[in-house]
Amino acid sequence: MAVRQYTSVGSSAAAPNDIEVRNPITGEVIGSVPTFSAEQVRAAVERARAAQPTWNALGVKGRGRLIRRWADAMWAAQAEFIALLRSETGKTEPNAYNEVAVIDNTVGYYYGFAPRILRPQSRKTFLPFVYKATVYHEPYGVVGAITPWNYPYLNLLIDVIPALFAGNAVVIKPSEVTPLTAQYAIDRMQEAGIPRDVVQIVTGKGDTGRALIEAADYITFTGSTAVGKQIAVRCAERMIPCSLELGGKDAMIVLNDADLEQAALSAVRGGLENAGQVCVGVERIYVEAGVYDAFVEKLRGYLTQMICCSDDGYGVHMGSMTNPREVERVEAHLEDAVQRGAQVLAGGSRLTDKGPLFYAPTLLTGVDHTMRVMTEETFGPLLPVMKVRDAEEALQLANDSVYGLSGSVFSRDERHAVAIARRMQAGDVSVNGTQLFFLASAANMGGFKESGIGRRGGPEGLLRYVQTRSIVADRLPIKNREFILANKRTRLAFTILRRLRRIIPTI
Ligand code: NAD
Repeated sequence: MAVRQYTSVGSSAAAPNDIEVRNPITGEVIGSVPTFSAEQVRAAVERARAAQPTWNALGVKGRGRLIRRWADAMWAAQAEFIALLRSETGKTEPNAYNEVAVIDNTVGYYYGFAPRILRPQSRKTFLPFVYKATVYHEPYGVVGAITPWNYPYLNLLIDVIPALFAGNAVVIKPSEVTPLTAQYAIDRMQEAGIPRDVVQIVTGKGDTGRALIEAADYITFTGSTAVGKQIAVRCAERMIPCSLELGGKDAMIVLNDADLEQAALSAVRGGLENAGQVCVGVERIYVEAGVYDAFVEKLRGYLTQMICCSDDGYGVHMGSMTNPREVERVEAHLEDAVQRGAQVLAGGSRLTDKGPLFYAPTLLTGVDHTMRVMTEETFGPLLPVMKVRDAEEALQLANDSVYGLSGSVFSRDERHAVAIARRMQAGDVSVNGTQLFFLASAANMGGFKESGIGRRGGPEGLLRYVQTRSIVADRLPIKNREFILANKRTRLAFTILRRLRRIIPTI
């Protein structure tokens, strides 16, 4: 694969502070991107601000047609794109395909539904024949999108697509670890006819992200809770809105009447997809005592059958981790757990013969909430399983976390599972599966507690990018010629209306 080199606007040469992008499996340099200065970021936002009104004037259907043309181009180029995505992250082919499929589906959903969601709405007024009220949805202007490395395409576009449908321009600050996929996708947008200044990329590290917050009209951030908190503070100081998709420590609850094969397979898929580097990954499992031994045995059996390597194709189950920092945290969590009495039933070490950052799918038992692996985000392929007395204890432990991103419940009694799910402190919960939100674009996900603010997906994921403007018109031909509104007639009208509302509350 050719090395992809990007340079700053107006320059053709590499600069000393350019960021090298490396393949995590081979260590080779696969590209480089410039570090945008605060001034360059400001200039990009200004260009975006100038281009936004024309983009907004296209209307939601006009914008949708260009976005769908882009999605078709990405779909047609998926073989090349998936290879690039894998070279930046070390992920498997099926995992990279999932990113492409989810984003294609997101475009399909908003193409179909955004016109309806954004349509001006007629609202009730005090006297319906006299006053006419309409609520319009207006874009904020320039959305700044700051994104992580674990799903560099999905976690970027899932927020950028609705921002564009809503009529905003977008300036993107992708992760410094994986900027090439973002660059590839945005280059295709411009080829598809989305004006160059409507979607721009500013590459760099935290400083570039900080500069974007200083200039944009709205920030959508996906990343760690620690950085998310800093961003929330700065956005509050600037009085601009933000949505924050942050870390998680997602709990899976397996009840005595669960289909154990389904539960164990879901633990594998939900916990080990992308080598566990998933914000909504299964990070801890609570199993009712009656099925604990059988569940652990099934899960152990599956983990020992997993194929982990860097090969191409859909027969590979788990790939490499992306950063040394992540592998080191996995090792630290495992060591802490073992020191406090946990047992390792499968895995428990690096797979150095596969590559420097491969880590074996690992099953831990004998765990409790004194251990880091049960309370801090691990973000790696560790599956700690804890035996619980009953569903109440599982719920209490699941909710014993500063995080509240996602979760799952397994039971053959769907009503009971949904009742448990509704008591989980999490923005989305799957029943008899994991991460099912990704198969329900019209639903949404997002964090309770320290997992974030705002929702992604569905109408809520689009409406976060608009502010409403109410326009109320007085259509009464006979004008009130008095200096005050509360005269004899209006007070009588209000008293009658008040009484009527006791009979018909929606009047
Ligand atoms: P990170 O917070 O370190 O970085 C995220 C982005 O923020 C990067 O682009 C980075 O350059 C930028 N950044 C860093 N400091 C900044 C600052 N002070 N101001 C502005 N921008 C700054 O996160 P990461 O390591 O890239 O990603 C992993 C984390 O992201 C995990 O905690 C994971 O749970 C979380 N995540 C959450 C979701 C979700 O949807 N909730 C999805 C994926 C990842």
